[in-house]
Amino acid sequence: MIENDILNDLKNEISEAEYSAYISKMKYDENASRSDLMVFIVPNIYIANWIKTKYSEKISRLFEIYKRIKPEIRIIVESQKKDVKSLKIHGNKPQIRSILNPSYTFDSFVVGESNRFVYEIAKKISLKQAEAYNPVWIYGGTGLGKTHILNAIGNSVLDKNKTVIYVTAEQFLNDFLTRIQNHTMDRFRDKYRNCDYLLIDDVQFFGGKEGVQEEFFHTFNELHDKKKQIVMTSDKTPKQILGLEERLKSRFEWGMIADIQPPGLETKIAIIIQKCRLNQIEIDTEIINYLASNINDNIRQIEGIILKLNAQASIIGQNINLTMAKNAIKDTQKENLENITLENIIKIVSKELNIKPSEIKSKSRNKTIANARRIVIYLARTLTPNSMPHLAQFLNMKDHSSVSKAMKMITTEIAQNINTKMMLDEMKNKIQNEQSDKTV
Ligand code: ADP
Ligand code: MG
Repeated sequence: MIENDILNDLKNEISEAEYSAYISKMKYDENASRSDLMVFIVPNIYIANWIKTKYSEKISRLFEIYKRIKPEIRIIVESQKKDVKSLKIHGNKPQIRSILNPSYTFDSFVVGESNRFVYEIAKKISLKQAEAYNPVWIYGGTGLGKTHILNAIGNSVLDKNKTVIYVTAEQFLNDFLTRIQNHTMDRFRDKYRNCDYLLIDDVQFFGGKEGVQEEFFHTFNELHDKKKQIVMTSDKTPKQILGLEERLKSRFEWGMIADIQPPGLETKIAIIIQKCRLNQIEIDTEIINYLASNINDNIRQIEGIILKLNAQASIIGQNINLTMAKNAIKDTQKENLENITLENIIKIVSKELNIKPSEIKSKSRNKTIANARRIVIYLARTLTPNSMPHLAQFLNMKDHSSVSKAMKMITTEIAQNINTKMMLDEMKNKIQNEQSDKTV
């Protein structure tokens, strides 16, 4: 089976010890998987977390090579498998199609100032649907808990025998395209327009994709008319999403818009304590405080560092100490920076500005593209050690003086326009966060 081939491929990339400690323990769950979702069962939470933080991305990329679709990888602990199965056949409503992450619940969500508003709205709508909260739009930076809270809503209403669909905007699009190809759009509509809760993650992905926006517009209208709950998450407000139709923007603003802020120190401490408890990790208060004050705001990265430290401590048979904590943070920061590639910068800039990555390297003089190219240059110069001649070559520009000219233009623009500065800061964050997600 292809899934086994993929796991075998990993053998070449990692040490034998790691392979037999973690990868060999993974069992592919054919029934729970879909074309865009691979589910693996593992014996315990420790292995699950280790695979999630270290190998998920690799497995997903290997799979992409074989099948040309990049699936989401879900690792489930054997003892939780029962819960996952039950999502599929719940009461007499068999049409629950999506798999929620059973560990993302309200109980496991640490509430602090930064996320209290979103938490309370999420709780409210899972107790009772209310028109004033339809749709709910949750937005905030990477790793701040949007997917967690969306799953928490799903898990909580599922217990009340409601029909829930949880998908990312990308899965919605893939599903849509497959249905068109197979001439089964009626089944697509039947599925998405007949649920009590439609939970859509990362809606910014719809930006610039007109066909799917048209379809989602009708899905939205029908559900809203029937007073069914719609919850969406995104990294921005509806207004800020480029290439999103006005009629959708205005509808998305009908209900409640709520943001998740980066966690403050106290919340970070509470999160670290909770993650340690869940993973049965012992760690001194002094070290917790040190980690909380020195780690960045991405909670996914906070989790990653704790697991890394725990693995390290268990290998050398000692408790986690301050030196180890300091080194782990230093290493991660260094890796974050080292791993930023030009391709990655291009990918993120083109995604944000809704143009094709190849256009940035083209000779096009189109205003948007020229502007995107300047942004790439600026980010590459501030985040990577690439020289101007090298950038010129990479971007198919004449020579280093054209790069230097572009750099001057964008620097002036930043000094004059606060919006440009904010946009660039946001992209910088994205690039750094994306890296940190891969390196933990
Ligand atoms: P986002 O979707 O905003 O990028 P996620 O929901 O995927 O972020 O969160 C990243 C990781 O951090 C997840 O493992 C999640 O469980 C954890 N996390 C985020 N916020 C919290 C929180 N308030 N309490 C506990 N864990 C959290
Ligand atoms: Mg998410």
